[in-house]
Amino acid sequence: MQNQIASRAGFTLAHLPLLGAGSSRTESLASYVLRLAHAHGYRPNDFIKLLAPLSGQAERDAGQWIGQFLDTRFSDEASVLACWVPLLEQLTGVSGLAVATLGTWGSLLTRRGSDAVVRQWCPHCLEDGHRSGGAHMHLLWSVGLVQACPHHGTELESVCPHCGAGRTPSGRPAKRFAMHAPGVCASCGGWLGTVDPRQPQASPREIPQASNHAVCVAEQIGTLIARPLGPEESLRVHCTLNVAKDRYFGGSMVELARWIGLGKSTVHGWLSGEVVPELRRLVELALKLRVPLGDLVRGCTDSLPLSLTSGSAGLKSYVRAEPRPDEKRADLRQLFETRPDLSIREMARLLGMNPRDVYYYEPELARAHSDARRMEQSEAREAVLDEAAQGVMTHLARVESVGECTTVRDLRAAAANEAPSLSYADQQRVVTEVLKDWAA
Ligand SMILES: [Zn+2]
Ligand SMILES: [Zn+2]
Repeated sequence: MQNQIASRAGFTLAHLPLLGAGSSRTESLASYVLRLAHAHGYRPNDFIKLLAPLSGQAERDAGQWIGQFLDTRFSDEASVLACWVPLLEQLTGVSGLAVATLGTWGSLLTRRGSDAVVRQWCPHCLEDGHRSGGAHMHLLWSVGLVQACPHHGTELESVCPHCGAGRTPSGRPAKRFAMHAPGVCASCGGWLGTVDPRQPQASPREIPQASNHAVCVAEQIGTLIARPLGPEESLRVHCTLNVAKDRYFGGSMVELARWIGLGKSTVHGWLSGEVVPELRRLVELALKLRVPLGDLVRGCTDSLPLSLTSGSAGLKSYVRAEPRPDEKRADLRQLFETRPDLSIREMARLLGMNPRDVYYYEPELARAHSDARRMEQSEAREAVLDEAAQGVMTHLARVESVGECTTVRDLRAAAANEAPSLSYADQQRVVTEVLKDWAA
């Protein structure tokens, strides 16, 4: 059928390879169509209008066809997969274009985050692509939950820095952001990368750093983009969760639900496989379990750590893969310098990391720090024991001078009176020591 249409139309399209396939930099189909239009000298809208009658879809107005290619129009992704992908593959002779859509993930990636924006991009990635001859929009950027670039650790942009397109006059995100070509604002023709082509000598634009969490979320969703769900694969989140339940919580669903922080009935639905958690939950689960999201949803439990607290091969490799260790090291070094009063645990909490990571990132500083603290603590303890012993001796001297009797209980009370923080065992120890000396 498609064959007939293509031959009847009597033309083929340039054999443009899809960029970044097989990585989290995979190009979106919208970006691919922009490049095709450019290669054939068409304006994007005219190009789509030309192809639309061949797509095998019912007649609809041109605006709707164009709308299908907007990066975030997930609702139509199924028809994009069914109609446009085969047509473009046919006309270009390039196979495997389905990975340029989110449709391979079925319903999982079609649920938009409430904070979804129409179009967003990483200026650094555009610049990198431009320098290597293939600026393109990443499919990853069209997932609403993604707000950072996993490669550069910076925030994504959604407003043209030159003309402000992408924002309504009232400052809200605009519904659409049109591009002439990937990375070129349709409103002003400005380049959305970091270097202004009109002033190549000027220093590149500064892009704000994203939070660690946002970078981790983007990295996790990137694992889905890098390896789309194959036709023979299915979502098996429940398999991973059941293994986690047995491995970490002794098979207790109640404990697992408490750890996740959700009700039993919700988690029951997940474990039975009747309900697939929404993307936001899945990402948080993957971060908590420290497994790649792609493994979590496929039910591949090889990378699941052996325990939640101690390290295993899988856990370690994920910790290593975490973004921007340099930044964590710098934060830690500063903390060691400015707040030596904090314990390792308190430092870890301040930086939102696991105490074990402190030893991983700054092993020497961490060890020296905890040695020093232990030393300080044992010195402080010696001083307290001395004070308690003084109290006991004063008491003994007093009762002896007046010829009274005393009990071990009174002596313990005297020790506690001098050093209230002393444990019962320490009181007893102090009294025994003092009595030994006293008798001698
Ligand atoms: Zn980037
Ligand atoms: Zn602009």
